[in-house]
Amino acid sequence: MKVLKFGGTSVGSIESLHQVRDILVESPERKIVVCSAMSGVTNQLVAIVEHMKIKEVKIVEEHLYHLETKHFDVVDELIKDENQRETLKQRIKEIIQEIAALSSVAYSETVKSKITTKGEALLTEIFSVFLNNNGVSNTLLYAEDFMHVDSAETPNIAKVSERLVTVLDSAPQNDVYITQGFICRDSSGEISDLKRGGSDFSATIIGAALDVEEVEIWTDIDGVHNNDPRYVSETYSIPYLSYSEASKLAHYGAKVLHPKTVLPLTDKEIPVILKNTFSPNAFGTVISSKVHSRGAKAISAKDNVTILKIESNTSLASHDFFKKVFDVFHKHEVVIDTVTTSEKSVSLTIDDTTRLLAITNELTGYAKVTTESLNTIICVVGESIAGDEKTYRIFNILKYIPIKMISLGKSDNNLSILIDSSYKIAALKLLQENLFLKENVLV
Ligand code: ADP
Ligand code: ASP
Ligand code: MG
Repeated sequence: MKVLKFGGTSVGSIESLHQVRDILVESPERKIVVCSAMSGVTNQLVAIVEHMKIKEVKIVEEHLYHLETKHFDVVDELIKDENQRETLKQRIKEIIQEIAALSSVAYSETVKSKITTKGEALLTEIFSVFLNNNGVSNTLLYAEDFMHVDSAETPNIAKVSERLVTVLDSAPQNDVYITQGFICRDSSGEISDLKRGGSDFSATIIGAALDVEEVEIWTDIDGVHNNDPRYVSETYSIPYLSYSEASKLAHYGAKVLHPKTVLPLTDKEIPVILKNTFSPNAFGTVISSKVHSRGAKAISAKDNVTILKIESNTSLASHDFFKKVFDVFHKHEVVIDTVTTSEKSVSLTIDDTTRLLAITNELTGYAKVTTESLNTIICVVGESIAGDEKTYRIFNILKYIPIKMISLGKSDNNLSILIDSSYKIAALKLLQENLFLKENVLV
């Protein structure tokens, strides 16, 4: 058994849906196919949520009309049988009406998730029928029947496994099962979501739950590139990454993978293969426990990082001071990303600033706190990075860019450099040019 996940652009047009069908025909194994919403649809659903909050009913209606028309057009293009077309349009109408009904109730996180995950529902209803008519016999599964997480960070693999086996046993038997990414249920059983880009995570949770042979993530690029192709030209695909390298790149902003993608698979050593839907013969990237090469290999960049510089203003011994500081973050459940310390001060970074004011107020009792927002962490990734000659050139290459913080990860596979976000693109380009391309360093 395999899991294949197709992202927004892969299911984003009539041509690409045909392309996905061809890929499925070519792969004979039993499989679960996880689909995203058509590209742009989740953004529109997020916009609906934003407008419903401020009661802009007219704009919500316009978005709903656009979503209905868009999916009706797909039905008209893909489905030849008149009766099937009518049944599908009826189903699309029902889903659009569900969104309309939700947009008029009081806002809550559950309402938000119920609305934003509807894009996957719309697409899979149509795509399953299209595939059944075109040589890919399949059964449609509803992810809300089996996808359980304890929190957005922690999937409940045992529960997903138990539910999914039950769902598979009671569904019509088939070699191909289609399901929705992104949607899940939280620990109290309410509909929730796996955060933006979460269909990658859905695929690997399912992969771990069923102990599959591999998880394939089909996207619009030929694997994980060594730098961010949205900002830098001449990036290249990396054929092999270890789980921890991929996980660092994803955590530090490589959009091609949801930050948690590889986590469910590492213990079971299930490989993740990234493939390009539009160039299926390209090798892509294989992510596994194997380390194929060492040294600086790739760079990613994470924005919206806030730095807190906390300096003790008491005579507390440093161990008490650090304990007090970290207790405050623990109390407010805010995750700290990178930390550097000296005897009586600590600098640390966070992404989530919703509790920032409460945290600084609490720290101000015994420390002087300054905060700076709009920073970017540039993360250089590669196994055994500390011993690599290239690593030492990084600071020379970035000599005209003011560096605010540096952190070398314990696992010796990532070096994080904090800079003001206004220098991000320059830093990425300089490193591409001088660290990777000049020497023609291939992995
Ligand atoms: P999907 O809809 O298939 O999930 P995404 O848009 O989420 O696709 O991710 C693919 C995009 O990620 C690419 O088109 C590319 O612009 C961007 N990207 C950012 N960093 C990287 C990287 N290091 N390697 C490959 N792609 C990257
Ligand atoms: N459709 C969701 C999003 O756009 C999930 C995904 O595509 O992975 O974020
Ligand atoms: Mg994605």
